[in-house]
Amino acid sequence: MSRYKSGAVGLRTSCLLVAVLTVMATATLVFSNDDDPPPPRLQRVTFNDSKSVTRTIESRVLLEAQDGGLLLEGRDGRLWNVTPKQLQNRDETGDSFQPLSAEQLGEQLSREVAEFGIKTSTQVVVTKHFVVCSTAGRVYAEWCGSLFERLHDAFHAYWTEAGLELRESEFPLPAVVLKDRTEFAEFATKHDRPDAAQAPGYFSEPTNRIILFDLTAGPNSTPAKTAGDIRRKLEASSFNVATMVHEVTHQLAFNSGLHTRYADNPRWLTEGMAMFFEVPDLDSRTGWKTIGRVNAPRLKDFRETLRTPREMLPLADLIQSDASFLKAEQARAAYSESWALTFFLLKTRRDDAVTYLKSVQRKPRLIADSPDDRLREFQSTFGELDTLDRDWKKFVSRQGK
Ligand SMILES: [Zn+2]
Repeated sequence: MSRYKSGAVGLRTSCLLVAVLTVMATATLVFSNDDDPPPPRLQRVTFNDSKSVTRTIESRVLLEAQDGGLLLEGRDGRLWNVTPKQLQNRDETGDSFQPLSAEQLGEQLSREVAEFGIKTSTQVVVTKHFVVCSTAGRVYAEWCGSLFERLHDAFHAYWTEAGLELRESEFPLPAVVLKDRTEFAEFATKHDRPDAAQAPGYFSEPTNRIILFDLTAGPNSTPAKTAGDIRRKLEASSFNVATMVHEVTHQLAFNSGLHTRYADNPRWLTEGMAMFFEVPDLDSRTGWKTIGRVNAPRLKDFRETLRTPREMLPLADLIQSDASFLKAEQARAAYSESWALTFFLLKTRRDDAVTYLKSVQRKPRLIADSPDDRLREFQSTFGELDTLDRDWKKFVSRQGK
């Protein structure tokens, strides 16, 4: 059996997509000019959230609909979609908007863990770009922080070298690392929804958080005491480490300007990027040498899909619609083809890929493209699909031989 079931793969990031579609569905009116930078003023906004809890959020307004609906960004980087009906009060403070400091964000994450009913005490590890709030002990949290930082540096170095200028995250990047799968399921159910609990970890586009659990934890295992212990325990589960890397890559992509949260980023592209970077590098203490290596489990899936033509998604379908990622019977093909397409484009046509990424970067928030627009945009950079379809299958199926 495949190490990742198609259902689980579909669920892994479905939190992200569903949240976006929900917001898009409510954005029925024309928003203000999306090219304008967000207003830098701090606003204190009171509203009833989707669970009818009254909240007052210190935020900046990213978008304002003609009917008074708001897209807010909190000081922790969380996005809130507030309809006119939910809105209660809006207080212009006159102060400038500032993200929470790493220390403040750590306190907030600890409060959230406690509010979600988790009794284990938290520890917060702050690194240069991340805030890791963990119930898995300091050693594991530090190990995560160091892995995330190495990935951060490699991710930015890759794009600089490719000629795509990214920015540093404006917000400290939040990660919640629970001590085991049970706590993770409890947190995920309340933070997102029950089916998020079945995933092996995820990035939440609305809250900007990655939620993970200690991969070394088992029913009879003692907590790892050193980074060496962690590495030894993880050598047997490299696919699970790939999941961590995958989710952190999503977070880096959405916080560096590679993608924009709540814009219509094609799913094959966001998932393809996460899979392009997900091959773990546990051997190096400083660098990260595995970016762009052939992703063996995805290649295996891709070859199997190629051998089963009825499972293969036509390239046009993959580009035009995200629906296949949410269907259990199509998710494996959708993920493996997205990896293969991204791998092919970055390995053989990187300059074109960068041009295409720049056009996707300009997409406004909360506006969905039509399937035809998506296809047109893709073809205007990469040409007709017939030639490409032949070339990418040939190139990818030759890999690893
Ligand atoms: Zn993903």
